[in-house]
Amino acid sequence: MNLVLLGPPGSGKGTQAEHLVQKVGLAHLASGDLLRSAVAAGTELGRKTESYMKQGVLVPDEVVIGLILEALEGKSGVILDGFPRTLEQAQALEQALGQRSQTIDRVLYISVAKDELIKRLSSRWTCKQCQAPYNLQGAPPRQEGKCDRCGGELYQRADDQPHTIRKRIEVYLTQTVPLIDYYRRSNRLTEVDGVGEVAQITRAVLQAVGVEG
Ligand code: AMP
Repeated sequence: MNLVLLGPPGSGKGTQAEHLVQKVGLAHLASGDLLRSAVAAGTELGRKTESYMKQGVLVPDEVVIGLILEALEGKSGVILDGFPRTLEQAQALEQALGQRSQTIDRVLYISVAKDELIKRLSSRWTCKQCQAPYNLQGAPPRQEGKCDRCGGELYQRADDQPHTIRKRIEVYLTQTVPLIDYYRRSNRLTEVDGVGEVAQITRAVLQAVGVEG
């Protein structure tokens, strides 16, 4: 099974992906996490992509498509989080999976209103080590400044600053929203309300992929 988590920045894709990984046992591929790791490691790809990410705009299609297709190698089922974000990426993904007689089986579209996204992203802190997300208001870590899972240091992402948050939402609305229709047309889209208790959203997500909560 291959799943896509689609939704605006701050809709909780990463959080839901982690729950899905535990329940369904698929590999989690988050394009943003892969790109941030490349930036932190100072690789050529990281140097090429850092300025786009800082500005809150999309990294060029060919770069991110190459990265994800490489990461897909040898995996039989994945949860894609943050990819695809453009029609070109969706088509490249479909083609690559098609060559292995696979497809995207279900797309979970997590919907959250804009005001709520801004509120969430401005209070989001992320683990430097494992990239687990926390929210100082809704879901704080047990110990201040430390990741519950790996003990890593929490930080506020440069692109989680108010100006860049607005830019990222605008980019989402113009470049990623067309994917909702793209997947709806082939009957693969399930919309999940991304506002409410995390556990309740997880139940809806699991139900959409046919797994007991
Ligand atoms: P995220 O962690 O998913 O919010 O992604 C952080 C940043 O990484 C985005 O604002 C983009 O600059 C870049 N990025 C992540 N995924 C993609 C993608 N599929 N296409 C282009 N850029 C991406």
